[in-house]
Amino acid sequence: MSRIDLHLHTTHSDGSLPPAEVLQLAHNARVTALAITDHDILSGIPEAIATGAELGIEIIPGVEISSCVGGSELHILGYFIDWQDSELIRRLAALRESRHARNPQIIERLRALGLDVTYKEVRDLAGTDSVGRPHIARLLMDKKYVTSAKDAFDRYLAEGRPAYVARELPQPADAIAWIRAAGGVAVLAHPTWAKVSGEALNALLRTLKADGLGGIEAHYSTHTKRQTTEYLDLAKRLNMLVTGGSDFHGITKPDIEVGTGRGGLKVPARLLEPLKQAASQA
Ligand code: AMP
Ligand code: ZN
Ligand code: FE
Ligand code: FE
Repeated sequence: MSRIDLHLHTTHSDGSLPPAEVLQLAHNARVTALAITDHDILSGIPEAIATGAELGIEIIPGVEISSCVGGSELHILGYFIDWQDSELIRRLAALRESRHARNPQIIERLRALGLDVTYKEVRDLAGTDSVGRPHIARLLMDKKYVTSAKDAFDRYLAEGRPAYVARELPQPADAIAWIRAAGGVAVLAHPTWAKVSGEALNALLRTLKADGLGGIEAHYSTHTKRQTTEYLDLAKRLNMLVTGGSDFHGITKPDIEVGTGRGGLKVPARLLEPLKQAASQA
């Protein structure tokens, strides 16, 4: 059974490796199909397609959009999107603006806490327009204020920590609609972030399905067997697609590897065909 990986980040957002290097790791891990799902940006896709053609890896154009509902941050993955769709490109640029509005406020808070950091340093380190907290975490690592990205989030950047600043986020229904308008299939990423399970999760998914959500990311690096089983069951009950991925980021999530996550991840290649069919009917 061959393996796929439908959730990866590159230097085009908050991953630490460029698309070509991520694909080389995928090749080494015998991944046969892969989706680059950078946050709020599509600029890594052309390089991924070109390298994929060289290495014989099928590339699914993807994106990950953060959204918020009822106090929970839900991430919506988009697959088989038209990555040249001007409306989607415009929407994503607006989402990046909300990052540029928030990030300097995080820096101000860090400076007020006595840390010598500037937003210019973060922008230079990021080298992309989609700047996220992991870039700030990397700057704090480089400057030895923290020992790891996890340490940076635990001490400063996570919700409830002293440098946390919320970002203006769209509703999941909007993110889903933008993905579908660009010909894509929308999937709920890492469903544990919904902070509910059982019937409450079932109800949430039914609402999202009515909004146009097509699938659930049941296979994910940090899921327990029990969580994976719950999400597979829910997908079956709701007649939704199943996807899976590592959420590889490189050095900001050093325990996560392309294709295999923490070692136990295996996303079956047979999940791809139904996803492709749903996209062609979109
Ligand atoms: P942002 O998009 O700027 O709000 O940053 C959120 C991103 O930070 C998530 O998508 C994750 O990739 C990453 N992240 C969140 N929590 C942690 C953590 N504890 N350690 C490392 N990365 C994290
Ligand atoms: Zn990320
Ligand atoms: Fe995410
Ligand atoms: Fe992600």
